[in-house]
Amino acid sequence: MRYQSTRGTAPILGFRDVTLTGLASDGGLYVPQAWPQFSRDDIAAMADLSYVETAVRVMLPFVGDDLSEDELRTLCSQAYGRFAHAAVTPLVQLDERNWLLELFHGPTLAFKDVALQLLGLLFEKFLTGSSAHLTIVGATSGDTGSAAIDAVAGRHGVDIFMLHPKGRVSDVQRRQMTTVLAPNVHNIAIEGSFDDAQALVKAMFNDPGFSGRFQLSAVNSINWARLLAQIVYYFYAAVRLGAPERKVAFAVPTGNFGDVFAGYAASRMGLPIEQLIVATNVNDILHRALSTGDYSAGTVTPTAAPSMDIQVSSNFERLLFDAGGRDGAALAEQMRGFEASKAMRLTNAQQTEAAKIFTSDRIDPNEMSQAMRWAADSGEIIDPHTAIGLAAARRAPVSGQVVTLATAHPAKFQDAVERATGGRPILPARIGDLFEREERYDVLPGTFEAVTGYIAERAQPR
Ligand SMILES: *Cc1c(COP(=O)(O)O)cnc(C)c1O
Repeated sequence: MRYQSTRGTAPILGFRDVTLTGLASDGGLYVPQAWPQFSRDDIAAMADLSYVETAVRVMLPFVGDDLSEDELRTLCSQAYGRFAHAAVTPLVQLDERNWLLELFHGPTLAFKDVALQLLGLLFEKFLTGSSAHLTIVGATSGDTGSAAIDAVAGRHGVDIFMLHPKGRVSDVQRRQMTTVLAPNVHNIAIEGSFDDAQALVKAMFNDPGFSGRFQLSAVNSINWARLLAQIVYYFYAAVRLGAPERKVAFAVPTGNFGDVFAGYAASRMGLPIEQLIVATNVNDILHRALSTGDYSAGTVTPTAAPSMDIQVSSNFERLLFDAGGRDGAALAEQMRGFEASKAMRLTNAQQTEAAKIFTSDRIDPNEMSQAMRWAADSGEIIDPHTAIGLAAARRAPVSGQVVTLATAHPAKFQDAVERATGGRPILPARIGDLFEREERYDVLPGTFEAVTGYIAERAQPR
């Protein structure tokens, strides 16, 4: 399998290089040149597979010659062996139609562990035996940071610099990052929003001087390997609910469009999906884009679901590319227009193709709290992000079963859960001492000079 950039001019790469590189050198994102196809029989044959074996089946066509099937199996067993639930991503039934797919049983209690635990191992595997040193830079609205840090802390050959918007992540989220004291972990609180932090990371990749000095790598969901790992649980859940005979819908609390793009990839690979419901909070650029074709960024409103407080969704570019006919030159021009004016219109082709599988909804804080109370009445305590997905799922015009992706453990957002339901979720025992641990991080202004200067002092050159 080979990978091409959405903007058409970066080199074509194999899986190893795509994993280590992250963002393409032309500013685009890597996508597979073609989607591997799974027949109905292939999908039916997954019904009795464990999570790890499902992962091997789904991912093998994407890794090319860079990993053998056994190597892939070893990495998946290691990554998913760290999950606290034997089913890795268990399904929980709420009523006759609604299900939760619990993606938060990993070490940092967010769905990002599913991808990042594997990515950390892939980095190590691909760097072993080479003199390369990787400098990971990332921006996080909360959960990516802790999951990425957990995945690479103490690993040889890798430094990680994680930017988070100061004061805009929850206490649990911040502490999960800043209490990891491994010397290769560098936490930076940026004065600004998540979008500011993400723009800084993009600028570092696009600056030839800076990216020439360090081998930069991304762990944001712009990294293809992350999305790949997320395709697996769509297959895993759908076959348990009757695929390929029955079509399942998924409601996805969406921020950077990574998680739901993985669902789109699954459908392009042949998984019968009735609908992908893109659920946003009041930061609703994706809802506007999918419902009216208007992709225009406003200002970010902080909410109780901070991982979705995003106005620019990087991975949306992958959908625009694939749904819009895979024309790199045209997409590059469209994206340049967007970067200049922070607004653009989807083409008719992009809108029509997307509408074949995506619907969208915008959930306000009231509706979010109601969904949390409704779930509590059904016996499940859910976090604010999951609640946004569930609220959208409950009013979506879907005929079959609907799976809401439960993206974070409720104890990551204790205050918000308590406000909505009156009960305070407790941290699982394995991270119960989080508030006693020592924290370490630096605060920097959100400028390119400040952040690159800080990294240059601490990172290892290529
Ligand atoms: C990251 C995150 C999301 C959004 O996922 P995207 O892939 O960015 O769309 C939703 N919920 C939680 C809890 C998250 O951490």
